[in-house]
Amino acid sequence: MIEKYAEIIGENELDAIYRIAEKLKGLSVLHVNSTPKGGGVAEILSKLVPMMNELGINTQWKVIRGDNEFFNVTKSFHNSLQNGSGNVNDETFAVYEKWQDINASEIPLDYDVVFIHDPQPAGLIKVRKKGKWIWRCHIDISNPYPKVWEFLRKYVQQYDAMIISSSVFGREDLTIPQYVIPPSIDPLSVKNREISRFTVERILRKFEVDPDRPLVTQISRFDRAKDPIGVISAFKGLKKHIDAQLVYLGSPASDDPEGDQVYQETVKAAEGVKDVHLLMLPPDSDLEVNAFQRGADVVMQKSIKEGFGLTVSEAMWKRRAVIGGNTGGIPLQIIHGYTGFLVNTPEEATHYLIYLLRNRQIREKIGQDAREHVRNNFLMTRELRDYLMVMLLSIQ
Ligand code: UDP
Repeated sequence: MIEKYAEIIGENELDAIYRIAEKLKGLSVLHVNSTPKGGGVAEILSKLVPMMNELGINTQWKVIRGDNEFFNVTKSFHNSLQNGSGNVNDETFAVYEKWQDINASEIPLDYDVVFIHDPQPAGLIKVRKKGKWIWRCHIDISNPYPKVWEFLRKYVQQYDAMIISSSVFGREDLTIPQYVIPPSIDPLSVKNREISRFTVERILRKFEVDPDRPLVTQISRFDRAKDPIGVISAFKGLKKHIDAQLVYLGSPASDDPEGDQVYQETVKAAEGVKDVHLLMLPPDSDLEVNAFQRGADVVMQKSIKEGFGLTVSEAMWKRRAVIGGNTGGIPLQIIHGYTGFLVNTPEEATHYLIYLLRNRQIREKIGQDAREHVRNNFLMTRELRDYLMVMLLSIQ
C-alpha cells in the first residue's frame, strides 16, 4: 500500500507520485533482469513492480535464464566493466549472443515501455519490435575494459535512454539521454522496518553472537568488489585495540557464480582471527539482515567497486554509523564525517572503527543524520517517482 508511506515522507510527496501516475495509467511495462533473488536489483524490483501495478500501470517482471557458461561470461563482463581489465574473446561474445537469442524467443517483449536491467540481458534490444526501451545500469561503468564496453555499447546505443545510479557514471560516448536515478530502500519491508531490541538480540544469539559485546557487521554477497578480505584485515587491526566481534553475512545470487570461491578465500583470510562469524544464509533472510544491521555498533561496506550499495542506506536508515568504501554510489550516501565515513584502505577502516566504537555519542549523532539523509534521498517512493518521470519523458 503506497498510502502507508505518507507517515514517512509526507502527503505532498505522495501527491506528486499519484499525479504523475495518472498520466501513465494503462501502460504496459516490463522489467527484465537476471536473478529473482540475491543482490540489489532483485531487491528493488520486488518492491517497485507491485507499486507500479498499484498505481494502475500494468507492470511485469521477467528473469532471463542461462547456463553456467553464460553466467560466467556475464560475471566476467560485470568485473571487466567495473575494473577496467579483462580477458574476452569471440567465443565469450558468442555465448552471450546465444543466450540473448534463447531468451528473446522465450520472453514476450511487446510492451509500451521495457526496462532492461544491467548488462546480462542488454542484448535483447536487438529483437525490439515496439515500445520505448530503457537500459537501467546498476553498476560502475566509468572506467570499463574497452573490449567489453565496445561490445555492449553497440547495444546500449540502440536504447531510447539509459539510467545510471550516479552522475559519475555518465558516458560521453553515448548519444542517448542519460538519466540519473540513485537506488533506494523500502522502509516498510521486513528488511528495514523497526524491530524490537528483543528480536535483534534473539537473532544475534541464535548465531552465537554476543549482544553485549561490540559488534561490527558487513552484509554483502561474497564478491571481491565488496572486499571481504579487506574487511577481515580491518577487523584484525581493530582487534588489537578492542575486543569486538565481526559478522560478515553473505548470500548466494544465481547470476553470481564466484560466490563460493570468494567465500573460501574469506574463510582462509579469517583463519586464526577470533570472533569472526562468516555466515552464508539464503537470499531471503530479510529478518536476519535487519537484525544484524540493527545489532551492529558500526556497519561496514568496504567495497572497492560499487554501483550504489543498498546495504549502506539500509544501515543508515537504522541509524547506524557506516564506514564505506570511497567508490561508486557510496559517496552519494555517506557524506564523510557527517553521515558516515569514507575509506580507501583497510587501515583507514580500522582507524574509524576504533574511533566510532570508542565514541558512542558521535556514533549516535552520525546515525541520526544518516537516517535523515536516507529519508530525504534514498527511499523507494523517490525512486518510484523518478521511474515514473522517465517513463513520462520517454513516451512523449
Ligand atoms: N543482501 C541480503 N543478504 C545477504 C547479502 C545481501 O539480503 O546475505 C541484500 C542486501 O541487504 C541488499 C542487497 O542484497 O538489499 C545487496 O544490494 P547492494 O546494492 O548492496 O549490492 P549488490 O549485491 O547489488 O552488488
